[in-house]
Amino acid sequence: MILRLSLFLFMLFSAAGSIAADKVVLVTLDGLRWQELFTGIDETLLNSLEFTKSAETLNRDFWDDAPEKRAQKLMPFMHGTVFKQGAFVGDLRHGSCAEVSNRKNFSYPGYSEILTGLVDHSITSNDKVPNANKNFMELLVDNAEKDKRFHAAAFTSWDVFPAILNVDRSGLYVNAFGPLEVIASDSERRIQEFYFDTPRPWTNVRNDVFTHRYALEYLEREQPDVLFISYGETDDFAHDGKYHEYIWAANRTDRFIGEVWATLQRLDAYRDNTTLFITTDHGRGQLPLESWQHHSPTAPEHVEQDSLLRYAQGIAGEEAVWMAAIGPDINTRGEIITPNGCLTSNRIAATLLHTLGIDFRTLNPNMGAPLREFLR
Ligand SMILES: [Zn+2]
Repeated sequence: MILRLSLFLFMLFSAAGSIAADKVVLVTLDGLRWQELFTGIDETLLNSLEFTKSAETLNRDFWDDAPEKRAQKLMPFMHGTVFKQGAFVGDLRHGSCAEVSNRKNFSYPGYSEILTGLVDHSITSNDKVPNANKNFMELLVDNAEKDKRFHAAAFTSWDVFPAILNVDRSGLYVNAFGPLEVIASDSERRIQEFYFDTPRPWTNVRNDVFTHRYALEYLEREQPDVLFISYGETDDFAHDGKYHEYIWAANRTDRFIGEVWATLQRLDAYRDNTTLFITTDHGRGQLPLESWQHHSPTAPEHVEQDSLLRYAQGIAGEEAVWMAAIGPDINTRGEIITPNGCLTSNRIAATLLHTLGIDFRTLNPNMGAPLREFLR
């Protein structure tokens, strides 16, 4: 009888659109274009002697005449699981539009918009300036009832995240760029050995495999309420002008996301209880061809860094992003068409709070409102 009653109550709450998940995993891929996510490898770039090495291998692994099939070959987990069982937006060919609101179209403003739900025009560079705005994880920790600790953690390839997440104020656990400070298991020790033995492609972004492996170890052992994983290779290989590496990074990261999802479904604390939300911090150019490498503020006064001012007027389309989600609170409708305007990144934080049963207005009413299109 009690079982029946609880089943009845469950159905009642479900019908009312209530909250099923109490965990969130947010994943970002830095600067992965919607073009590759939805149409796969780009034919012109694939055949570019300037940008692509190993064209034969790329052709074998990722080419198909049909854009949809190319996209499935490049990112099979996103297409085969997330898009089929969840919801997504950003394929501009179909009138499905997502964009950042910050008009700067580079990383710090993009991540701040995603994580805080706010658009702060005073953020004008990627410098390690502690974020004045509280992100949704910090707000959840602050808001937790005294007897219940709220546990959030972040693993990021880029070394600016301790500033974006203002760790000195927020106290969030953030492992960014560098090695683990505390080794808690034999497998972590092994991963750490590889970290020190592997060449480092960049001085401020690490290979995503370490972000990924550290995050999975932590997820299993510490079981945080919210986990943020930020992969970075796609952006940096693009800036380096290496389209082959950009493509391989996209394909690898798709597999990583699949591993995250498989881990969540294996663990009792997360199975059927977790929202997985995946997005990017900015787009990149498309025309002229070489602009695929770059992104640049729409208005020069928005930025302090010369390296970001390659295009005085910005690059067409670089504000375009994409979003995808899967989980018990997420609509299973698949593609979201946006006839009334683009969905914006400043609404992601409130959407994630909603899946946790929290009205964003109780934490910060200035956040963008939840993306109802994603919710059941
Ligand atoms: Zn970039």
